[in-house]
Amino acid sequence: MAKPQSHREAPRKVVVVGGGTAGWMAAASLVKFLGRLVEVEVVESEAIGIVGVGEATIPQIRNLNRALEIDEADFVAGTNGSFKLGIEFINWRRLDHSYLHNFGSIGLSVNQIHFHHHVFRAQAEGYGGDLWDYCVNTQAARAGRFAPMERLGSSPLGGVAYAYHFDAALYGQYLRRYAESRGARRTEGRIVEVIQDPESGDVERVRLEDGREVAGEIFVDCSGFRALLIEGALKTGYEDWSRWLKCDSALAVPSRNTRPPRPFTQAIAREAGWQWRIPLQHRTGNGHVFSSGYVDVDTARETLLANLEGEALAEPRLIRFTTGRRRKFWNRNVLALGLASGFLEPLESTSIHLVQSGISRFIQMFPTRPIADAERDEYNRQVTLEFERIRDFLILHYHLNERTDSPFWIDVREMDVPETLTSKIALFKASGRIYRDAQDLFTEASWLQVMHGQGLTPQAWHPMADKLSEAELRDMLANIRQIVTGAAAKLPSHADHIARCCAAPQAA
Ligand code: FAD
Repeated sequence: MAKPQSHREAPRKVVVVGGGTAGWMAAASLVKFLGRLVEVEVVESEAIGIVGVGEATIPQIRNLNRALEIDEADFVAGTNGSFKLGIEFINWRRLDHSYLHNFGSIGLSVNQIHFHHHVFRAQAEGYGGDLWDYCVNTQAARAGRFAPMERLGSSPLGGVAYAYHFDAALYGQYLRRYAESRGARRTEGRIVEVIQDPESGDVERVRLEDGREVAGEIFVDCSGFRALLIEGALKTGYEDWSRWLKCDSALAVPSRNTRPPRPFTQAIAREAGWQWRIPLQHRTGNGHVFSSGYVDVDTARETLLANLEGEALAEPRLIRFTTGRRRKFWNRNVLALGLASGFLEPLESTSIHLVQSGISRFIQMFPTRPIADAERDEYNRQVTLEFERIRDFLILHYHLNERTDSPFWIDVREMDVPETLTSKIALFKASGRIYRDAQDLFTEASWLQVMHGQGLTPQAWHPMADKLSEAELRDMLANIRQIVTGAAAKLPSHADHIARCCAAPQAA
């Protein structure tokens, strides 16, 4: 048997191409988790700059921060951040309708079945109220309240689940300081050529405009939509999903704050797309994601500017994209992360998470020398599934709508959707059941909230929900409602919490 090669002698040289959110998340994680096993060099070009729009996250980012040992107050202050309890979807089901997709759970599982079966039974019997009456995040969000809370008093109910909004440029700088202080090296310059080994086809080195070269054993392509290595050099190919996710453009603009920051993101459906509002301490991030097949850029810009809450602080910036994914996320000795790996519109703030999960899977599977095909294949299999399940979740928001006011909404309702989504919708419709695949980022509670929020009510509930007598069920529901409302009422306002724990010096 061949002797396994030791990694103790020579650290693996990892070159991260790109210094946007993806590049610095990768560099920070590599130096922290692999330590002396790697030597990390980030190559970036200030002249090219970063896309600079990813500003809303999901709760998993707190796991990354914990693993990196980042202090929350320092982090929120350092990125001009705010807290996020979920996303409010306005006008998605129909005009003048809204619901919140909250992080965390709704109620708690009783008699081993999900809570919503009990609520749907109660609703059918004429009591029980609204599904979101049992969700502390909704109650806090609607009242503009926030503070971390692990559990709701002494009850078994889960506490407040949350994520962050932050300034994308400040987030990159924050992680850059982190990574550089732990040994990552940064090289400034524009890459003009990617040089491959003529025999293996692996990337060997990149050449900069001024002639300098940076060589490495593993390359992490974080070059954004340019995808310099994974596509430019390796021609990996792209699977286009725009037949289902028809938006292909976004206009982004910051605006002045006119009110205390909401503890949630807003996603407001427009004629042929939707608008985001992301509240930060010093400004609000806004954007209009739209389908150029249904609305022209000038109209999209007017719509965005007409719907800002405060004065625009810059000219709207146009970004074009093709929704889909790279055919392989890890090809030869190149791992693609961030926009270089694919694009899913920011409806559920999943892109930064995909960077996090990509890098964490890669560290779990940090390759042998030489890299085995089986390692790459397994990585690609897992990431493909994760991308596909998120894709289905995003399509769900569009597909289940009742709008008749624009061709876009009618078309997305009538289009065929992937079979994996069709069967999920059918199962929920028939019986209220939701099953989550192993690589599904979103929990049952998330699927539930969007399916129900978009107007789907199951025709039946789990038979086990009938185990409780009516009196027992009424009692249990009233009790949980009381705990949830009481807990939300105890929270301070979001603005007070920020002022107390993590106000950014420049935002004060
Ligand atoms: P970039 O930020 O584009 O960075 C690319 C880097 O590569 C830069 O440093 C650049 O200088 C460097 N580079 C490129 N070419 C060269 C070269 N030739 N030589 C040297 N360096 C080079 N995600 C979320 O999670 N939440 C959101 O709310 C969200 N909103 C979004 C809204 C929009 C409209 C878009 C388009 C994306 C959004 N995203 C969001 C996605 C998120 O912005 C990205 O996933 C994240 O910013 C990572 O980007 P990146 O680092 O891959 O690319």
